[in-house]
Amino acid sequence: MSARQALVIGAGQAGLHLAESLRAFGFEGSVLLAGAEKGLPYQRPPLSKEFLLAESAAPTVLRSKEFLKSRGITLLDGHHIVSVRRDAGGGEARDSTGRAWAFTHLALATGASSRVLDLPGAGSPSVRYLRDLAHARRLRNAARSHRVRRIAIIGGGFIGLELAAAMTALGKSVTVLEVATTVLARAVDQRISRHVEGALLNRDVDLRCGVQPVAVLDSPSGATEVLLGDGTTVSADLVIAGIGATPRTEIAESLGLACDPGIVVDGRNLASDNRTVAAGDCTQPERSLFNPLGIRLESVNNAVTQARIGAATLAGVEPPTPSVPWFWSVIGDIRLQMAGMPPPGATADVQGDPSSGSFSIVFHREATLVAVQCVNDPARFAAGRKAIQRGSAVRPGQKA
Ligand SMILES: Cc1cc2nc3c(=O)[nH]c(=O)nc-3n(C[C@H](O)[C@H](O)[C@H](O)COP(=O)(O)OP(=O)(O)OC[C@H]3O[C@@H](n4cnc5c(N)ncnc54)[C@H](O)[C@@H]3O)c2cc1C
Repeated sequence: MSARQALVIGAGQAGLHLAESLRAFGFEGSVLLAGAEKGLPYQRPPLSKEFLLAESAAPTVLRSKEFLKSRGITLLDGHHIVSVRRDAGGGEARDSTGRAWAFTHLALATGASSRVLDLPGAGSPSVRYLRDLAHARRLRNAARSHRVRRIAIIGGGFIGLELAAAMTALGKSVTVLEVATTVLARAVDQRISRHVEGALLNRDVDLRCGVQPVAVLDSPSGATEVLLGDGTTVSADLVIAGIGATPRTEIAESLGLACDPGIVVDGRNLASDNRTVAAGDCTQPERSLFNPLGIRLESVNNAVTQARIGAATLAGVEPPTPSVPWFWSVIGDIRLQMAGMPPPGATADVQGDPSSGSFSIVFHREATLVAVQCVNDPARFAAGRKAIQRGSAVRPGQKA
C-alpha cells in the first residue's frame, strides 16, 4: 500500500481528537475513525451529571458531521473492530461484519469499561454501571420510574458521588457505600473529602464509609439487598456500581503490545512496538515530569493531551510540550477542579475559607507549587494551573 491511510480505533474523546490532530499536524492521507458505538462521538462527563436531569436524552456531541467532513475524517460509527493484523507496510483491521480496513498508520483509543462487581449476586438485573450513553439512558429511565425510590451506590469515587447528587436532585433516596474511611480517598486531600461528605449529608445522602459490600441479594418481592461485611443489609430498588474502570486492551494484547494494565506508552504515546500509538483511558503512561508516579489517568484533559501527542508522533512532527494534568468534577453544588499531581511528602495548605464553600488546597514541594485542588474556587485553580506549568521548563517526552 503506498497512500498514507490512518486508522484510529475508538471514536471517543481521545480517538476523535487524535483524528482531528492528525489533520492539524499536516497528515495528508485518509483518516478513518472506527467506533463501536453508533452516532457521533459525544462527551461522557455529562452522563453522570446534567444528562440525568435534562429534558432531552440526547448526548452532547463533540463534533458535527459537517465538521468531520470538512477535515476529511471518515467516521465508521457502529463498527466494532474485532481483529487487527500487522505487516511491514501497516496492516488490516476487521470489523464485526467481517469487512476489512487497510491502514498504514494505526492508533488505539479504545478507552475503558466499567470495572465489574465481583460479588455473589452481582449479575442481578438491579445492578447497573455507567460508562456510555446506553448505560446512561437506562439509568435515566430507571431514575424517572416511580418504582425506583431507593438507590444504593457502591463506590464513593467521582462517578458514584456525582450520581448520588444527581439522584437526590431527582428526589431519590440514596445510600453510598464506600470501603475506605472517607470518600474520594485516593483522589483528594482529606479536607476536601470531608467537605464533600458534608455537602452530601446536607442532601440527605446516607453515606456509609468503611463498609464492605459482600453480596447482592434479590428478594422475590422485587427488592434488592446489598449485604455488608458486618451482616447488615441496605435495601434498594436499584444498585449502581461505580468502582472504577478497566482499560480496554483486547486489540493491543492481540498485537503483542505491552499492557500493564493499560497499553504501555512512552512520552510520545508510542506503544511497545514503536509504531502503534495509543491515547486516552486505554493507556498506561510512563513516569514523567508532571506524572512522577506514572499513574494511569482517566480524564478528558489526559485523553486530549495524549491524542495530540500521539497524532504528532504518527504524523512525524515534533510532539507538543506536555502540560500539567487537570481534572474537574461536579458533585451537586460543588465544582471541584484539580491541577498537577501532589508527590508523596508535598506540603498541603488551605487557602480560602472552607466554611464559605469556596477554598483550595495548595501543594508545594520545597518552595515550588506542584498541585492545586480547588472547591468552587475557579480563579485560584486557573492561577495555580498556570503557575505549576510555568514553574517547570519541560521538553516533549521529558522523564521525571
Ligand atoms: C460517567 C463519566 C463521567 C466522567 N466525568 C468526567 C469529568 O467530570 N471530568 C473529566 O475530566 N473526565 C470525566 N470522565 C472521564 C472521561 O470522560 C474519559 O477520561 C474520556 O472520555 C476518555 O476518553 P477515551 O477516548 O480514552 O475513552 P472513551 O471515551 O471510553 O472512548 C473509547 C471508545 O472506543 C470504543 N471502542 C473500544 N474498543 C473498540 C473497538 N475494538 N472497535 C471500535 N471501537 C472501540 C468504545 O466503544 C468507546 O466509544 C468521565 C467518564 C465517565 C464514564
